[in-house]
Order: sequence, then structure tokens, then C-alpha cells
Amino acid sequence: MTSKGSAGVRVTGVLLALVLLVELAAAGIFLRYLTAKKEEPAASKPPEVLTPVPEPEPQPEPEPQPDPEQEAMLKERQALMERAYQLSQGYYYDEALALLDQAGALRSAQTDALRREIAQKQAELVPYEGDQFYHVFFHSLIVDTDRAFDGDYDSTGYDLYMTTVSEFQAMLPKLQAAGFILYDITDLVEFRDGEAVRREILLPPGKKPLVISVDDVNYYKYMEGDGFAQRLDVDEEGRVVTVVDGQPTYDGDVMPILDAYVAKHPEFSWRGAKGVVAITGYEGAFGYRITDLEDYDAATQAWMLQKTRDVAAALRESGWKIACHSYTHNQYWSDRTITAQQEEYDIGRWKRDIAPYVGETNIFISPFGVAFPDNDPRLLYLKEQGFTIYCPVEASMTTRWENGMLFQSRLNLDGMVMKDYPERVKRFFFDPATVLDPARPHG
Ligand SMILES: [Zn+2]
Repeated sequence: MTSKGSAGVRVTGVLLALVLLVELAAAGIFLRYLTAKKEEPAASKPPEVLTPVPEPEPQPEPEPQPDPEQEAMLKERQALMERAYQLSQGYYYDEALALLDQAGALRSAQTDALRREIAQKQAELVPYEGDQFYHVFFHSLIVDTDRAFDGDYDSTGYDLYMTTVSEFQAMLPKLQAAGFILYDITDLVEFRDGEAVRREILLPPGKKPLVISVDDVNYYKYMEGDGFAQRLDVDEEGRVVTVVDGQPTYDGDVMPILDAYVAKHPEFSWRGAKGVVAITGYEGAFGYRITDLEDYDAATQAWMLQKTRDVAAALRESGWKIACHSYTHNQYWSDRTITAQQEEYDIGRWKRDIAPYVGETNIFISPFGVAFPDNDPRLLYLKEQGFTIYCPVEASMTTRWENGMLFQSRLNLDGMVMKDYPERVKRFFFDPATVLDPARPHG
């Protein structure tokens, strides 16, 4: 009896507890229902559960009581992973993997996962097998179209041979979308026993190598007051800037614009490659009149020479190559009447007056895009002088490795080609009508 009775009490107790629980649960649900009803202001709110939230990057194991040391470690790991990821975006795979391999105490399941992901991307690279290479060129960009196209003597020339800042800025995402990746022209060739041969280059599947060059980065006197930058300079962080109306800017020519674009889109540049800056010498370099030093006082002379060195160093540091574009840019190049003596003088002056400040180079960007037959003594002279990469102008952008040299022809993306020969651009790149600056006189 007692045992039965106590069992009965126990059963009743359990039942009561159950009822209580059910009631509490019901009340809870009801309360939640009420709250939910109150919180719902309109029927437009999307259902909560149905939208799948994208899986976030693998998160660190939950840290219930993060002590400062632990937090610092997590931050350090996050920074390491971000750095490795950034490197891999610019195709610095070996560097990114090395960074993760040296993670030491920061190593975790996450760093291992990132390492696998990056190694996978590297393994997917393929040699570029195409015979078509791509090289486009510009002159210094028009910053102020009002001043460039003011109808004076120079306006027609600017409309034909120049590109505006807005046009260049509009081209970059189009080139990227079309599968181009900037490549260093010196990476396209290797020399075996003095012979230039095609060097195998790697790219992600389906991508195409693009070289960009900029001619006459001298900011000639005739361009003064016509809406161009005045010169190049270097900011406190070592970045190349354009000086426009006396002020440093980051959008006054191809170089700072491309530098900024690649900083934002590292995947547009193979290991930081930017392009080629081609300079003459008869009015100095980068806007500094270092070949007319006698016109200036000693302090200005020293300042100009130092600036030229600084700009050249900053350009190289950010992935630019510097090329010789002849010293004189004389007409004797374009009509190919240049004699051996004239050529010796021309190249000799570039080597004596320009190279010591901008650095030696093996790239020759021919003035007026002139080309010589392969056995022409004037071409052989250039090769003998160390110019083993020769770039003329030709719409089909032929690239060949012959006679100990790399020849790569270039297509000008200027007003003349974009307006008069749009099919040359469409064939390889984009429809130029979509980028043309409406400020052009015959837009
Ligand atoms: Zn030129």
C-alpha cells in the first residue's frame, strides 16, 4: 500500500510537472507569437528561414572567454591570411604559400584551408599557347578637354593622337572583362646563347597577356597650357603622381591611374606588371628639362636631376619599365632617312644624358612607330647597343622572336584609331564607341 501510494504520488507529481511544462511551453510560444506579431510592422518583411545565407568564410573556433592574448593572436592570424590572400590575387602564389608555411603558432584549420585554396589556383595556371599577343599604347592623357580642344593649332593633333583621362579610365574595366591581364614585356622573352626565344608564360585558363606602353612621357613645352599634366613626381608614400596646375594628382596620366586600378584589382596584373614608359631626351624626361641644365641655376639643376631619378625609381618600384624612344624624335626616323652617324648621335645622347638618371634599358619604342627590315644596319646597330626588344606600330600587334630580338608591334588606342578605324579595336578589345569622350571635337 505504502509503496503503491507513494508510487501514485510520484506518478501524479510527474504528471503535474509535465502539465506545467506543457503549459509553460505553450505560454512561451504564445508570448513569442505575440512578440513576433508586435514586431512585424508590415507584410513586406521576407521570410526569415527561407533565404539561404551564403556560407561565410570558415570562422575561428568560437572563443568563449577571449583573453587579450588570444584576441591578439586571432587578429594576427586574420592579418596573415589577408596578406596571403592579397598576394595570391596578384598571382604571387609562391610568396603567399611561403607566408602561410611560416605561420608557426598562427597555423590553424583556416590557414590550412586557405593554403589549399591558393595551391589549387596555382595548379590551375596554364602556359599561354596563343600566337596572338596584345600591346596597346597611348600618349600622355588629356586631363582638361576644354584646354586641349580649344580650337587652336594643336587641337587637331590632340584629337588624332591622344586619349583622354575619361576614355582611359573607361577602357580598363573593359579590358579586364575581356580577359586581359597585364604582363611585363621583358617576361615574354629569354635569351639563349644571345638568341631571343619565346619564353613560356603562365596565366589562368582563358586569360590573355596585355602590354601597355605610354610614349613621349616628357610633357613637352608645346603641351603647356593645353590641359596635360606638367610633370611626374613622387608622393610621401613613394607613389608616382602627376602634377597638374601645380598640384599633385592621381589621375593626370596613364601611370597613376593604372597604379590605382591595379591596387584595387590586383588580378588585372601578373605579379604587379604595369607597362612601359617611353621617353625621348631632347626636352629632358618626365617633365624635367635635364638636357637644358645650363638654362637653370645650380639648385634647380640639382633638384631636376634628383626628381628624374626619384620618378624613375618609383616607376620601376611599382612595376613600370622605362624604354628609349630615341633622343631626338627627329623626322629622319619617320622617313627612314636616318644615317648611321645620325643614329649614333641620337642613341649616344640618350645613353649619355638620359639613361644615367632613368636607368639602362633594353627596350626601344621606335619614334613614329617606324620599322626597319631585319637586316637593316640601323636596326642591327640598335641591337648592338643593347636594345633587344623593339616595338613598332602595327594594328595586328604581331609578336616575333627573331635575329636575337623580340619584336612586338603595338596598336594605338587614340582618337584616330577609335574614330576612323574602330574595327581594329573591336576585333581584339571592345567597341571604342562605348568609351569615346563626348568632348572630342568630332565626337
Ligand atoms: Zn613618340
